Amino acid sequence: MNKLCPNSTLFIILLLLVQASLSACQPGAGVLPTPTPAVPATVSSADTTPATPATDRYASQRESMVEKQIRARDVTNEAVLQAMGQTPRHEFVSSDYLSQAYEDHPLPIGYGQTISQPYIVALMTELIELEPDDKVLEIGTGSGYQAAILAAITDQVYTIEIIPELAERAQQTFERLGYDEIVATQADGYWGWEEYAPFDAIIVTAAPDHVPQPLVNQLADGGKMVIPIGPPGGYQSLWVLERQGEEITRRNWGGVIFVPLTRAEE
Ligand code: SAH
Repeated sequence: MNKLCPNSTLFIILLLLVQASLSACQPGAGVLPTPTPAVPATVSSADTTPATPATDRYASQRESMVEKQIRARDVTNEAVLQAMGQTPRHEFVSSDYLSQAYEDHPLPIGYGQTISQPYIVALMTELIELEPDDKVLEIGTGSGYQAAILAAITDQVYTIEIIPELAERAQQTFERLGYDEIVATQADGYWGWEEYAPFDAIIVTAAPDHVPQPLVNQLADGGKMVIPIGPPGGYQSLWVLERQGEEITRRNWGGVIFVPLTRAEE
């Protein structure tokens, strides 16, 4: 453990304050508090395989993102770290934000929505403890980035987006990048996707004010759901639900900020 002199302690506190206020200004998947060591753990390139090694000029930014934003904040699941290290996040952001693709915050993707902060994507993926043979459902496709991370771990990925233009664009992105295993649709994800249920894991990336019962019903025995719950426009709590038979256990992970789960007209 490095000793910190008073000046560097002050710097770290300032850094944390700046980061917390940035997250607060950018709804759409920031997390509070942000447990960020200012000094990253040792940098290793062993588990960061660029998706397109010959042409990928973002490889070093991605490696740095994994080490400083994710591993340093105690995400330890190697499959998650590898997924984050090999998935080209810059392919999921608009050209206006390319230079910020690997930065430590969410980014706008149009229609008032955001691609989540990399750390949140990694954390939520770690919390559902995905195994290679698992079937996973995502609510809130958005840019498609979270689905791509899931697809790096399992080839049974289902994702639902309510905004037609975003659903269409994500589908095109999946096709362009060769994510053939991702099954995507445009619908109100509140109802889940009965046709493919049950799911070993469900990941909800927009916040409802209660847990949608259809999603609970579509969770397999032993399955896990990670979902932010709270009032629209405010802070939410990130919950991890686990189903054991008819029993549902709940664990509150902490405060987060997500865009609201909107509902289709009925
Ligand atoms: N997972 C996304 C980011 C999520 S932003 C990514 O990796 O980029 C949340 C997304 O949830 C938005 O695109 C929003 O339109 C969508 N959403 C909101 N309510 C929804 C609903 N009821 N069903 C499906 N998608 C919904």
